[in-house]
Amino acid sequence: MQRHSSAQIGTVRTKTPILTARTVNSYKWIMGLGETSVEKIILAEPRGFCAGVDRAVEAVHSALRTYGRPLYVRHQIVHNRFVLEALEREGAIFVENLDDVPSGQRVIFSAHGVAPSEWDRAKDRSLRVIDATCPLVTKVHLEVKRYDNEGRTVILIGHAGHEEVKGTLGVAPGRVTLVASVAEARTVEVERPDRIAAVTQTTLSVDDTRDIMDALKDRFPTMQAPKTDDICYATQNRQNAVKELVQVSDAVLVVGSKQSSNANRLVEVARMRGARAFLVDSLADVEPAMLDGVRALGLTASASSPEWLVEEIIGAFARAGAEVELLSVAKERVHFPLPMPAD
Ligand code: SF4
Repeated sequence: MQRHSSAQIGTVRTKTPILTARTVNSYKWIMGLGETSVEKIILAEPRGFCAGVDRAVEAVHSALRTYGRPLYVRHQIVHNRFVLEALEREGAIFVENLDDVPSGQRVIFSAHGVAPSEWDRAKDRSLRVIDATCPLVTKVHLEVKRYDNEGRTVILIGHAGHEEVKGTLGVAPGRVTLVASVAEARTVEVERPDRIAAVTQTTLSVDDTRDIMDALKDRFPTMQAPKTDDICYATQNRQNAVKELVQVSDAVLVVGSKQSSNANRLVEVARMRGARAFLVDSLADVEPAMLDGVRALGLTASASSPEWLVEEIIGAFARAGAEVELLSVAKERVHFPLPMPAD
């Protein structure tokens, strides 16, 4: 292991998590039989909830407190099943289609944003919308609108099928072209190569996106792009932390759900640097094979993963005698105010 110089390392105090049925098996092998070689957990900072996720989740809590049940939420408010399950227990009802929301009811739009056509549909059905779209996604929508008004073909760098991408494509239907790779950037056909602009999904790999952007600029030298990157601060910070983490860890665990774009990118970033990296939803997913021969275990969490999932993993290893160190690359102080209520 080679220690990098720019990150701050310190010790952290750990909390003892509550043992749940889901995690009992993991505890058994971590704690009971001395089967783990892990001596140290290195905890990345920043990790976990970003300002956009914090705001979206709090918007649901706040609406439930103010209006009570039922409260409808279009799409998964954030891509983490534990968050969704907890909100469902409180009374949130998640739907994929606005037609499943009874006319006149309140509905919250998720942090990933929606196409303008969804606003029209909500209006047609007299739904009272609370918009929890992350302001940084809204910024991308506004860029697309501006470029489209200027008569440019917009290239969106992103992953097909992701909820955020669906919403951004819908800002200018039929006039936004999706590009997902350098190969696609080299071959994408556009009507007016001199009238091109590019935007990106907010949760991409910083390095991959730079390569795609460079390939586009080579082909379209007059292409317009936002002055500052569309990849959000939270995605960038968590990827920067993982880059440091892999230098001091024998393996890295990323806490996050499979459908989370930024979680998958964290795993990719670690693997691109030669690390053994694994995506785990929670402690229950941690398997002995992931830790084979691992003495220093890096730990981080995607922007949609609540901190208690991280604490549960730390607690298990701490009980088995592992020390915990903090590796900090940045302090985040971003906060977004709650969205306006529906009425
Ligand atoms: Fe907003 Fe970035 Fe968080 Fe997505 S990951 S909700 S864009 S701050």
